[in-house]
Amino acid sequence: MKYRVNKDYLLDMLNLLLTTPSPSGFCHNIMAKIEKKSIDLGYSFERTKKGCGIITVLGKNADHTIGLSAHVDTLGAMVRAIKSSGTIRFTPIGGYMMSTVEGEYCKIHTRSGKIFDGTVLTTKPSVHVYSEAKSQKREEENMEVRIDELLESEDDVKALGIAPGDYISFDSRTTIMENGFIKSRHLDDKAGVAALFGLLELLKSQNITPKNNLRIFISTYEEVGHGSSYIPKDIDELIAIDMGAMGDDLNCKENQVSICAKDSSGPYDYHIVSRLVDIANKNKIDYAVDVYPNYASDVSAALGGGNDIRGALIGPGVHASHSMERTHIDGILNTIQLLARYVSE
Ligand SMILES: [Zn+2]
Repeated sequence: MKYRVNKDYLLDMLNLLLTTPSPSGFCHNIMAKIEKKSIDLGYSFERTKKGCGIITVLGKNADHTIGLSAHVDTLGAMVRAIKSSGTIRFTPIGGYMMSTVEGEYCKIHTRSGKIFDGTVLTTKPSVHVYSEAKSQKREEENMEVRIDELLESEDDVKALGIAPGDYISFDSRTTIMENGFIKSRHLDDKAGVAALFGLLELLKSQNITPKNNLRIFISTYEEVGHGSSYIPKDIDELIAIDMGAMGDDLNCKENQVSICAKDSSGPYDYHIVSRLVDIANKNKIDYAVDVYPNYASDVSAALGGGNDIRGALIGPGVHASHSMERTHIDGILNTIQLLARYVSE
């Protein structure tokens, strides 16, 4: 039997998340929206000192606590220097190929709260002018942000209030298609956060009390490695809901939930992975078990932080991760179905 998931709620939440900028370390705005959304559903919301969010759902059994984490922080950039030409040299936040942000519209967020528009370009952006425009290596020192203001010098940029240390967010280009595909930057891991809210809505609207206490953990520094390094001490097992990797010898498709058996941080808990596979088989939830070659999750961060927990990693298949990502609504729905069974049985 499948649970009824409120698809409209899920897609509204996903769209809200995807269109709110939140590069790692710049998550205060999106966390305020998440706090409001959890209060609207009737849940309490707490923050850790470093700004991660915790939503607690009481279960029938208070002796065991399952943590479900997803990260709301994304790739982005920061102003490193202002160039004499009036453009911005930037430093990346998170790991991505410079070619994947070339040509992207972006916003520069000053510390005084002003927002300026810009475009990420190479330093030789026109084939009509630079003979090396095509062959120029797409690496940090060859990239810059053109600001959409009339500017001629470094002083002009400073006069706007733009300074080193200001955050830069990329246009997510969110497109939710009629046929179920969702194209957007930052599906990693806003699709995971949306899945958790789909689960919370389902538990609330259908009056389901989970078997064990749940701690929903929304982390804000995953892309830089320490998202869930701290988690509440009562968590016994932690499942990270994060993007399923796709490609090469991996089996997962965008419409499936991926169950990760091992990533570069090592194998996930044997018994949780087995139980997830068992639940998926019994309930005809479309899934794939995969081994990700270049990946670490919030569970990796939690284990690295010294937490004595058992951990697993699941999530909707996301194609071209950290690039122009795409998933399918069915992948998110299958993730919610698997989680709903896992926490209620
Ligand atoms: Zn992720």
